[in-house]
This record gives sequence, structure tokens and C-alpha cells, in this order.
Amino acid sequence: MSRRIVVVGSVNADLRVTVERHPRPGETLLGGDGTVTPGGKGANQALAAARAGGEVTMIGAVGNDPNASAALGLLRESGADLSGIAEVDGPTGVAVVMVADSGENEIVYIPGANATVDAAAVDAHRDLLADAAVVLCQGETPADGIARAQALAGGRFVLNPAPVIALPSEVITAADPLIVNEHEGALVARMLEPDADVEALEQAPRDCVAALREAGCRAVVMTMGSAGALVSQGEGVTAIPAVRVDAVDTTGAGDAFAGSLAARLAEGETLRAACDYAARFAALTVTRSGAQASFPTVDEADGLRR
Ligand code: ATP
Repeated sequence: MSRRIVVVGSVNADLRVTVERHPRPGETLLGGDGTVTPGGKGANQALAAARAGGEVTMIGAVGNDPNASAALGLLRESGADLSGIAEVDGPTGVAVVMVADSGENEIVYIPGANATVDAAAVDAHRDLLADAAVVLCQGETPADGIARAQALAGGRFVLNPAPVIALPSEVITAADPLIVNEHEGALVARMLEPDADVEALEQAPRDCVAALREAGCRAVVMTMGSAGALVSQGEGVTAIPAVRVDAVDTTGAGDAFAGSLAARLAEGETLRAACDYAARFAALTVTRSGAQASFPTVDEADGLRR
């Protein structure tokens, strides 16, 4: 039985600049720091899965520009198999993140090469997908690429629809689990049931999880930041408490949670046990700055297994 996790997702170079305040239209401001770090939800989750002990293969695309190697740096070091990452003409995906002293972010996301990860590109890896224990997707990939990955997944299909994009209902309901935060959960509930009241569901996470299950979702994990997570599979909803930590920077917590969860599921753990582990893994990331840079090392991740 394969233990492989195949992540079909985005690879970005994140350009993070700090500014006192956001510039007005036409204005040039002097920034503080400017750093290029690896990012993209696909690459982040693939790295988290690899650090959590998973055998990871990533399917995605980078451009033929210098950002490609920056975007893949930590993932390559992790030992993940990158043979499914195509190099295409044009730019690697870029997120320009402007962080003001107030803490408010302005983000411009350029999908670049990530936009080429469509059904045909995913199809080229059908054997890999058929053989995987877990296939993991996020919302930064074209919808037809996600749908094809789900259709070809021989094992468990795990979906983190972040950002929420229009997907066929059968792709969403097949997710085992669907991993969403409160906001994403409410938007997905409305996608499945157009009458759903997004604002009300956002304020009532348990009701939202119940609504997603009633709409046909096989299993749902709802992450709620420092309030932990809710898990629903079979009957009822179980709360997974967050680990109490001094939070420094929550960037990447959701990706750390999803990737490490997938790694534990690929090892055959129950969803409940995998969520407990993911909560410990993600809690460690919020005690440090950055996204990928904040993820536990392999040794730290090992130490989190009880
Ligand atoms: P992001 O988009 O910022 O990555 P998200 O909304 O997808 O985040 P969260 O719900 O914020 O994801 O976080 C995922 C998980 O990480 C939570 O369920 C929890 O287990 C853990 N976590 C997040 N923030 C904290 C915190 N302040 N303290 C402890 N654990 C946390």
C-alpha cells in the first residue's frame, strides 16, 4: 500500500515588503524590508507534509525565470519529489505582500505558471494519482485541474478550497476531508446550497459544519485559529482544542495544518488523531515568523508525535 501524498497545487515566490503605511495612488514610498520567500498554498502544504514525515510528490508548474528556484528552495531541500513540477514559458507565480506598520496587508497575486495546472497537465500524472494514498488540492489551481485530480485519485482526496473558487459539487463532497476555515466553510456551504445564509453560518461554525455534511460532504474539518478545529465524519461534530501558545505570526498556519494532516492520514491514522497532530504542528508555526520558514523541522515534527 502506497504511503505517498501527491499535492496538486501552486508554487509562488512571495515578495514581502514592509511600509509605514500603504502608498496612495501615484505615490512612491520608501519601504523597510524586502524579502523573497518561497510560498504558494500547494508548496506550503507539500513542505508541511514532508516535514511531518510524509513521502511527498508535488504536481505544479513554475516559470522559466529566476523566481522559480527561490520558490522551490525549501521544498527541494525537504527531499520532496519535484518531478511533477513543469517548467513553462512565462513567470513563476508571485504574491506581492505589502505589510504596513498597522499590521494591515495589501496583497497582489499573479498566478503565472500556476494557471497552466489544468486538467490536461494533471492528466499527464494519472498513474501517480491513482497510486497515491492521499491526493491534496487547494484553491490556487485551475478548477478543471482540481476536478481531474479528484477524478484520478486512487486513494483519499483531501481538499482545502482556499481561496474558494467555483468547483463542481461532486468534487467538494468527495473530499475526505474538506478542510475549511469559518469563512471558506460558509462560502462552500452556499456553493452547495444556494439558499445558505453566509453571514449566519460564518458566525456559527458548528451549524456550518452540519450544513456542509447535510449537503453531502463526506467529512469536514473546520479550522478556527486559536479556537482550534471541528471535525465531522460519520455522526456528530468533535472539537479539537488548539494548543496554547504565544502567537507571533499566524501566516501559513492553515497550510501547516492541512499538509501535516495529509501526512498523518497517509500513514493510516484516523482523521481525529491526524487532526490532533496537525493542531500541534500548526501551533508551533504560529510561534515563529513567516510561512514556510516557520514550519517545524523534521526533528521537531517527529517530537510532536505522542
Ligand atoms: P491562514 O490562512 O492564516 O493560514 P487559516 O484561516 O487557513 O489560516 P487557521 O484556522 O487560522 O487557518 O489555523 C489553522 C490551525 O492552526 C488551527 O485550527 C489551529 O489548530 C492552529 N492555530 C492557528 N492559530 C493558532 C493560535 N493562535 N494558537 C494555537 N494554534 C493556532
